[in-house]
Amino acid sequence: MPVPLLDVNAQNLPLEPELQAAFTQVLHHGRFIMGPELETFEKEIAAMTGAKHALSVSSGTDALLLALMALDIKAGDEVLCPAFTFFATAGAVSRLGAIPVFTDVCPVCFNMDVNDARKKITVKTKVIMPVHLFGQCADMDPILALAKEHGLKVIEDTAQSIGAQYKGRQAGTMSEFGTYSFFPSKNLGGFGDGGMLVTNDDNLAEYARVLRVHGGKPKYYHHYVGGNFRMDTLQCALLSVKVKRYAQYTADRQRNAAHYIAELSKLPGVVQADPAHCKCVNTQDTWLAAQGAKIVLPVSYAHNSHIWNQFTLRVLDGKRDSLRDHLVAKKIGCDIYYPVTLDQQQCFANLPAASLSGCDVSHRVANEVLSIPIYGELTEAQRNEVIAAIAEWLA
Ligand SMILES: *Cc1c(COP(=O)(O)O)cnc(C)c1O
Repeated sequence: MPVPLLDVNAQNLPLEPELQAAFTQVLHHGRFIMGPELETFEKEIAAMTGAKHALSVSSGTDALLLALMALDIKAGDEVLCPAFTFFATAGAVSRLGAIPVFTDVCPVCFNMDVNDARKKITVKTKVIMPVHLFGQCADMDPILALAKEHGLKVIEDTAQSIGAQYKGRQAGTMSEFGTYSFFPSKNLGGFGDGGMLVTNDDNLAEYARVLRVHGGKPKYYHHYVGGNFRMDTLQCALLSVKVKRYAQYTADRQRNAAHYIAELSKLPGVVQADPAHCKCVNTQDTWLAAQGAKIVLPVSYAHNSHIWNQFTLRVLDGKRDSLRDHLVAKKIGCDIYYPVTLDQQQCFANLPAASLSGCDVSHRVANEVLSIPIYGELTEAQRNEVIAAIAEWLA
């Protein structure tokens, strides 16, 4: 039985009558830009995340760009962001002429290594941009403390983690700005591009709101140069249908992750990452070798509520591509997020050397990671198929 990495139809098609009704409603009132469903959807996201302000935007990427613009990030400013993340995090920084400075990541949770971030702060640093990768929050308390100590702003790239929690706080709401994405493969997946910018700060919200419409307020009177960062009314209307089910979608992913962890850890050579080894690659290596580990399972820190956008294995000893080829041959969807770290991207080759230094853990995990199907509608039979294929590879 083939198992896809993601099956958007399994989640969307059962909602077809409701989605069609939402489409019909927007078609008939005709307010395709900034229509009433846009405000409704923003209120739903604000209610769900507890953010004071939620601004719908054209994509998760544009949410990052808008957040940086609203913090007046300019050419020459430095922004700390992890080397191991999706490209958009650093791309948004570069588009403003600012300089991404890459930090290493933790080999256990794959998120920003705060100690490395501390080493890379300079007089030009303006923003720390942690990413809540794969559905789990970065260690925000030390990041926020570091920012406070140096007078820096924080933007949480929460594209993969809407609804995740850190010590009971909602991902994206712990700093100046949080950014969400509704790209179809995210946990709240839309029907095209879309995103959301959230903040608890009234002034920043107002500034971002004006920048979202070319910096014009009132219309045609421009104090600032903004852009067109609007999300379509139609997209908002369709996503409102899904947002009501979001808690269930998350619970389904968490059930799948729990099943994988319970069953895969029974296999010889499979161990779960140990939160005690966060940031300590050397200790971790000794421990993994002592366990005879071939595959390391992801873990949710006790203080986090993980929403499992990805279920990402680390395959040790240079065997990752071998496992991938085996799964592909068995028609089991899997993918590498991300094969090339940002400090190693061609487009950043001309950044100052200090931007590109000291990302060893990132390089290592980029060679080890493999994500397997975790979407909520995966059946038990499909999960077992994935587990059996991994067992076969290990044997
Ligand atoms: C998906 C993603 C983005 C960009 O979101 P889009 O809506 O696709 O523009 C940014 N950062 C991270 C970490 C992402 O996973």
